[in-house]
Amino acid sequence: MDFFSIASGSSGNCICVGDDSTHVMIDAGISGKRIEAGMNKYNYTTADMAGLLITHEHSDHVSGLGVISRKYHIPIYATAATIRAIRSQKSLGNIDDTLFHVIYPDQDFTLGSLTIHPFHISHDAADPVAYRIENIRSKVAVCTDLGYYDDYIIDNLTGLDAMLLEANHDIHMLEVGSYPYQLKQRILSDHGHLSNEASGQLLCKVLNDNIKHIFLGHLSHENNYPDLAYETVNLEINMDGSIPYKGKDFDITVASRTDVSQRVII
Ligand SMILES: [Zn+2]
Ligand SMILES: [Zn+2]
Repeated sequence: MDFFSIASGSSGNCICVGDDSTHVMIDAGISGKRIEAGMNKYNYTTADMAGLLITHEHSDHVSGLGVISRKYHIPIYATAATIRAIRSQKSLGNIDDTLFHVIYPDQDFTLGSLTIHPFHISHDAADPVAYRIENIRSKVAVCTDLGYYDDYIIDNLTGLDAMLLEANHDIHMLEVGSYPYQLKQRILSDHGHLSNEASGQLLCKVLNDNIKHIFLGHLSHENNYPDLAYETVNLEINMDGSIPYKGKDFDITVASRTDVSQRVII
């Protein structure tokens, strides 16, 4: 399988995962032009995507959806409540009804050679999910926009070969930063976003010998920066005496808000 991020962050998200026969896109929260340019970097085109997996209706995950769906007619997969919320966003323009396919958390579905497993996440959206995607050889997950993690999330991220995991904010930067009080509370709540510390702690629960790459993603522009996310997550791994790993045992990189990431081959 291969796995890369075209954009990741609170200003837009678009991730590509696939194998020799099937590729899917997770979220389309940047312009259609940027998505296509990102695909082209690795000799794909948006039209190669067998499906568009949507996590939730926030604009940083769907802003390019209208344009892409009109241009390429790619099937869109999302929960029923997410589809309703997308359809109510006038800014996306008209999206052909027949492109939408309802998915259910915890119910696998197949697209070509890929098995897709959506699972619940706690976030302030209609019915948000994250995705685990596997073929006969490998298993990857894209897990962002979650206020907290529990055993259910840990179960869903166990045994992966690669993942993109949210490391949204530094709690201290958020607390002293310029965001209004209500927004700070929202981000810190159980329906907000994972901090760097929480992201590192979650990683400690799911690290295994087979992980080839970890992308840290969905960084906040205001309340985080790549070196801080990387260092904090590493520190959490290094401090956890209950696991046989150190941060340096893994390839961990931060997925950029603006640039296409490296392509990880698993
Ligand atoms: Zn988001
Ligand atoms: Zn969101």
